[in-house]
Amino acid sequence: MSPSDAASEPVAPTGLEGVDYLGWLPEEWSAWARSVGEPAYRGRQIFEWLHRHLAAEPAAMSSLPESLRAHLTAAGVGWPWRLSVESKSDDGTRKLLLEPHNGDPKARIETVLLPEQLVNFEDDPYTGGLRKESDAVSQCISSQVGCAMGCVFCASGALGLTRHLSAGEIVAQTSLGRVQLEAPQHLRRLVYMGMGEPLHNYEQTARSIRVLTHPWGFALGARRITISTSGLVPKIDALAQDFEGHVHLAVSLHAADNETRTKILPINQRYPLEDLYACLKRYPLRRRRWITIEYTLIEGINDGLADARALARWLRGLCVKVNLIPLNPVDHVPLKAPSPARVHAFQRQLMDAGYSVYVRKQRGDDIDAACGQLAMRAAPARPARPAATARRLALL
Ligand code: SF4
Repeated sequence: MSPSDAASEPVAPTGLEGVDYLGWLPEEWSAWARSVGEPAYRGRQIFEWLHRHLAAEPAAMSSLPESLRAHLTAAGVGWPWRLSVESKSDDGTRKLLLEPHNGDPKARIETVLLPEQLVNFEDDPYTGGLRKESDAVSQCISSQVGCAMGCVFCASGALGLTRHLSAGEIVAQTSLGRVQLEAPQHLRRLVYMGMGEPLHNYEQTARSIRVLTHPWGFALGARRITISTSGLVPKIDALAQDFEGHVHLAVSLHAADNETRTKILPINQRYPLEDLYACLKRYPLRRRRWITIEYTLIEGINDGLADARALARWLRGLCVKVNLIPLNPVDHVPLKAPSPARVHAFQRQLMDAGYSVYVRKQRGDDIDAACGQLAMRAAPARPARPAATARRLALL
């Protein structure tokens, strides 16, 4: 064999095919490096290239020897997503539809970039017109393709669960989001509030947090990460134990009585309000931290003053802030947001009871910003709404 033949021979990948290496921590990369005859410190270098410097392909990892770069290239190391569709709202919100490299339309997910200067409730008469100019961006990421929870107003719930995302697939959304930012923007917060229930995919969600917060990578502070859940009590406890309250918790409540809440969120049958309250009470909050209570206001369902009073009673004894979210319109869901006057009356009632209450400004209405809607429209055929969801809608 001539030297040129040897040079053109493909390098055999070792142990990375089908592996979720974007969800690996540095020590796992180091173990892999040793297994292919490289020194352990190469593991840290690869991790830094992937998560700090956002190298989308091994060729860009200039501090690695050429043979190792070739090895990683042959193993297909890179991001699992490519940008399929981008929608940009008049208010600056950018919604990205991501698809895997095989183009499978059923495996698409969504992620949303939200410039923070628009997040601060500037039109809200009750919060003093807060407005903060900033180049910071929040990103809303997905944890599953579709969702199994079946919340009655949600497009992702209507899609049903296709599959859980791996930790690497979750992390790669942020990498793609970060390279999409326009200078001097920077990613400051992550909210697991896109498609899926992150605590239904707990192991991968927890691993993704460890990767994203690792000081050799993106190094995002854990308190800048919000996990939003519909109320999976045992997994909230697991999150509390694993991250000791450093991760911010947001809970979708939507009603303070079991009958109404079960109609809106079926998970309430399994973990009713009494269990949820006890779980939130024991969540280990750090100093000057709170739990965010998400409450979607639906006209005629949960938006009355009696509902607000019930909510105020239910929250007593918890350290919380409340986000009121006038329902985002969703295709084929015959539910509406209340009028602004009704929203403000609800807010006033809670504020009079002593709570911090914000009305979340609707973002990106013109680009289907409610979670799952873009994927739903892009899906090859609209899935039938599961019968159970249709029954609950009829009950509301
Ligand atoms: S609101 Fe969240 S938990 Fe409920 S169906 Fe939608 S994605 Fe799932």
